[in-house]
Amino acid sequence: MTNERVYLSTTIPYVNARAHLGHALELVQADVLARHHRLAGDQVRSQTGTDDNSLKNVLAAEAEGIAVAALVDRNASAFAALRDPLSLSFDDFIRTGSDPRHRPGVERLWRACAASGDLYRKQYEGLYCVGCEQFYRPAELPDGLCPEHGTRPERVAEENWFFRLSRYAGQLHDLISSGRLRIEPAARRNEVLGFIAGGLEDFSASRSTARARGWGIPVPGDPDQVIYVWWDALGNYITAPGYGTGGEDYERWWTGADRRIHLVGKGVLRFHAVYWPAILLSAGEPLPTDILVHDYLTIGGSKISKSGAVAGNETADPVELVHRYGTDAVRWWLLREVPRVGDVDFTAARLTARANDDLANGLGNLVSRVVTLVHRYRQGKVPRPDERPAAAADGRALATACERAPGRVAEGLADFDFRAATAAVWDIVDEANRYVERAEPWLLARAERAGDLAAGRRLDESLALLVDACSELASRLTPFLPNLAGRIRAALDDSAGQLPAAEPVFPRLEAGIGAAV
Ligand SMILES: [Zn+2]
Repeated sequence: MTNERVYLSTTIPYVNARAHLGHALELVQADVLARHHRLAGDQVRSQTGTDDNSLKNVLAAEAEGIAVAALVDRNASAFAALRDPLSLSFDDFIRTGSDPRHRPGVERLWRACAASGDLYRKQYEGLYCVGCEQFYRPAELPDGLCPEHGTRPERVAEENWFFRLSRYAGQLHDLISSGRLRIEPAARRNEVLGFIAGGLEDFSASRSTARARGWGIPVPGDPDQVIYVWWDALGNYITAPGYGTGGEDYERWWTGADRRIHLVGKGVLRFHAVYWPAILLSAGEPLPTDILVHDYLTIGGSKISKSGAVAGNETADPVELVHRYGTDAVRWWLLREVPRVGDVDFTAARLTARANDDLANGLGNLVSRVVTLVHRYRQGKVPRPDERPAAAADGRALATACERAPGRVAEGLADFDFRAATAAVWDIVDEANRYVERAEPWLLARAERAGDLAAGRRLDESLALLVDACSELASRLTPFLPNLAGRIRAALDDSAGQLPAAEPVFPRLEAGIGAAV
């Protein structure tokens, strides 16, 4: 197996309000992929950050009556602080407003596109949604309202810089339809191809400094205009590794990486799969290799919005959810219940039910049972028989589940299918629990006490197989639930000559405590 150099990024949310569970979804998905690739021996760079230069930040600060920089600092810090509660392992966190690597890179990207003849000035009038930070064509607005926000876009007329997107329609179509720029799931790829087939219009790549309230990066050589916030934000993927500041990292992690993977929500697909690759083509830089698209979480059927991270009794604040239910339960719900395609409704009751069924009952009981059996029948010493019962009929299904898990996890994650990947891990849990029932170690122990040496050997073999399966489970679970995996490893640690006393690796959660607060 050849090791790859993999650069993974999440989108960078604008920070006009605090983080919600939808952000946690993308961060946790990226974290699983990063941990998975690291365990596979790949070199990994995983990046997230915040979009500080959005006009929405300016409007939010005005509404609160505080300085924009103060609002951005406060909220960006809250995003960075998700790292510990969610057990994230990102390598870099870029803040577009204050990171010294960012502005020189955005300016270089602008100059490179200008040198290609792709930036020109034009008088323009259009319908602009500040929520989306984009212009819409009237045909794209059902009842005249933004499809994302349900708000009425404002009419904007000004002279802006335009990017010659129309020039790249053919190349983008070829790159995406050939899979050289891979978009998963396929339905999202087809959506992008349909959008390109509908004709690409040049887009406004700047706005007047007055309309931007002076916030943002000025257009090089034209201080009356600031660079369009999406251009600025998309640039983060290359400015952080040093596109504008030099050094080896840009070569190492962008131009020289085997995989450049962007995780994005469906609402910003067009920016990542059309605008961004076109800008890179114009600038003569390599494109991302993969764009992995997730759908939305909802509460009560509505998209979780940052302004309302609470709906009824439900909170969608990831830090609060971790505080109530723990990191493992929150990560597990996001990974196990969110489908590859389709929105999913969040409730605390679903989160606790899933955690109790899977982590407390299925997995937690298994580990406790195995540790208890080793203590009861072998004084806590893990038997190391020469033979494993894998070859025997009753242990085969469990051994097979363990053998197949690594490949199935890798396949699932390559398809951006976290449910399939976690299902492969869960087969080990299910088969191990079935195996205990079939092998009946308590009967083997009774026969051994009555003098049956063959039964004693089979008991050794059974316990060894179960301990091996739990170890395998901990390994496979590591990218998904690193904390719980660590507790399973600790429960199976016999380096002191015997296993520690059995303790629950995942205590049951109180059902419904989410609704009480
Ligand atoms: Zn909108």
